[in-house]
Amino acid sequence: MANLKTKVLLTGGAGYIGSHTAKLLTKHGYEVIIIDSLFPSQSKKFYGNFYKLDLAEEEKVLEVLRKEKPEIVLHFAAFISVPESIEKPFLYYENNVGNTIKLLSAMKKVGIKNFIFSSSAAVYGIPDIIPVPETAELKPINPYGETKVMVEKILKDMARVKEINYVSLRYFNVAGADPEGELGPTYKQPTHLIIRALKVAKGEIPYLEIYGTDYPTPDGTCIRDYIHVMDLAEAHILAMEYLLSKRENLVLNCGYGRGFSVREVVSTVKKVTGVDFKVIETSRRPGDPPILIADNTKIKEILKWRPKYNSLEDIIKDTWQWELKQNEN
Ligand code: UDP
Repeated sequence: MANLKTKVLLTGGAGYIGSHTAKLLTKHGYEVIIIDSLFPSQSKKFYGNFYKLDLAEEEKVLEVLRKEKPEIVLHFAAFISVPESIEKPFLYYENNVGNTIKLLSAMKKVGIKNFIFSSSAAVYGIPDIIPVPETAELKPINPYGETKVMVEKILKDMARVKEINYVSLRYFNVAGADPEGELGPTYKQPTHLIIRALKVAKGEIPYLEIYGTDYPTPDGTCIRDYIHVMDLAEAHILAMEYLLSKRENLVLNCGYGRGFSVREVVSTVKKVTGVDFKVIETSRRPGDPPILIADNTKIKEILKWRPKYNSLEDIIKDTWQWELKQNEN
C-alpha cells in the first residue's frame, strides 16, 4: 500500500475523468497536484493544488515537477474526440504524443519514474475477438487511437530498460457523473452519445442523430461498453497502489464486459428523463468500430477491481442530475 500522504500529480486533473479521480484520491488521503491548461473543458471545482499550464510548456512543467516532487504522475491530459482526430490529425499527434514525450522528458530530468497512462479501447480498432482481451492486436482505425498506441509503445520500450514503471489503462466508453453531484462531464461541445442524448432531452440540441443503422449487430447500431466514471477513478487508485508497491508494469482494460447498442442507450435516456425526444437515423460516422466490449478478467484478477456503479440506468441518472444542475447556475 502507498503511504497516506503520497504526493500524486495529475495532468488534466480539471478534466472529466481527472477531476473525479482527484476527488477520490483526496478522499483516500492522498496529496493531489493538478496541472491543467483548462482547455477545452474544465471543472469549476478542483481537488488539489492547481497549476494552470499547458504540457507544451516543458520548462514550466519541469519547474512544477522540481518543486512538488510527486511520487507518481497520472497522465489524463489529451484530446479525446475521434471525429476531430480524423479532421485534424496533426493536432492530435502533437498534443497527445508530442506533449506526452515532453512530460516524460521532464519526469526523467527530475527522476520521477511512476506513471499511469490514460489509454483507450480505440487502440484495438475493429477487434477480431469480443470481449476484447489486452493481448489482442493493436490496429486502430483513427488518429486518436494511433496516438494511444504510440504512447504505449514508448512506455513499453522505456520500461524494458527500467526508465519508467507504468500502468496503461485502456478506457472503454466512460460516462456518468459524481453521484454526490459535485462533478460531471464539462465538455463545451460534447460529441459523446449519452451527453448528447441528454442535451436533446433538455432541449439544448433539437434532435439526436444515430450514426449508422446498418452495422453487423442485432439492431444495426454500434455497441459500446459504458463504464461509470467513479468506477474508473477507483481503477486509477488501485493501479497506482499496485505500481507503487510492486513496481510492475501493466496494461489493463477498463470496462464492465458487457455492451449496449446506440438504440438501447437512446431508449434508456428516454426512460430516465421521461422525455420522448426526436431521433434521426443518419449515415455512419467515420472511424467507429461496430462493437467494443472489454474483457476485464485481468483488472479484476490483478487489481481486485470491483465495480460499484455497473448499471446503464444509474450512469444515465447520475449524468442527468448533473445536466439539470447546470441549468440552475
Ligand atoms: N453516436 C451516435 N450519435 C451521437 C453520438 C454518438 O449515434 O450523437 C454513436 C457513435 O457513432 C458510436 C456510439 O454512439 O457508435 C458511441 O459514440 P461516442 O462518441 O459516445 O463514443 P466513442 O465510442 O466514439 O468513443
